[in-house]
Amino acid sequence: MNRTMKIALFGPPGAGKGTQAKYIVEKFNIPQISTGDLLRAQVREGTPLGKMAKEFMDKGALVPNEVVIEMMKERISDGDCSKGFILDGFPRALSQAEALSGIVKLDAVVNIVVDESALVRRITGRRMCKCGGTFHVDFNPPKQTDICDQCGASLYQRDDDKEETVLSRLEVYRSQTEPLVEYYGKEDIVHDFDGNRQIDQISSDILGFLSKLEG
Ligand code: ADP
Ligand code: AMP
Repeated sequence: MNRTMKIALFGPPGAGKGTQAKYIVEKFNIPQISTGDLLRAQVREGTPLGKMAKEFMDKGALVPNEVVIEMMKERISDGDCSKGFILDGFPRALSQAEALSGIVKLDAVVNIVVDESALVRRITGRRMCKCGGTFHVDFNPPKQTDICDQCGASLYQRDDDKEETVLSRLEVYRSQTEPLVEYYGKEDIVHDFDGNRQIDQISSDILGFLSKLEG
């Protein structure tokens, strides 16, 4: 790799960020940093941060900025991030983007654009595995119902993937996160991808774009 590959994946909840991140990790061997995954790990471990965060997550609200910013600063300073990383779910508010720009300069924002009408079905049908695997009951089903293809563990539904919470999350996205597309547009680093297609068509486009970026 000639250049660093510091990327942020953008798009509303359910756009396919986590799904696409797995392909990028595999091809370019850079870590995926998902603030949602980091927060869910804290919730599972029952830490004070996890207990506090869960109250916000269950409502579909953003966890306070200073908490996620601190978490990201720590994670990005780890050795495995020196050549690049994929941010998934961060930044999600203007103050987070500003804090990030004080630490690193992103090389590209991969913006996955999906019709609003598809998102609720994608999210309510999502099934997760503790190993990081993401499936969908209709669009990306595991080979055996509710069993992870990758590790054989039981799949589960996220607490915040219920329809009523999903609607709040979409509203938070529109009001707080979507304006960041314009913010990064000023740096001329936003690249749109049509996320309404099949998973492998989207990944083929994104991987092709990133290969060129890598140089
Ligand atoms: P995000 O990380 O952006 O919230 P996910 O990657 O978890 O989104 O995808 C949300 C759900 O939609 C998952 O159940 C996933 O399997 C499914 N999914 C992802 N990409 C597509 C696609 N292109 N078409 C249909 N379903 C998809
Ligand atoms: P995600 O896994 O990205 O869908 O995030 C799940 C939930 O975690 C969100 O609805 C928020 O409550 C919280 N969260 C994740 N990332 C952030 C962030 N960057 N800022 C604030 N809250 C976040």
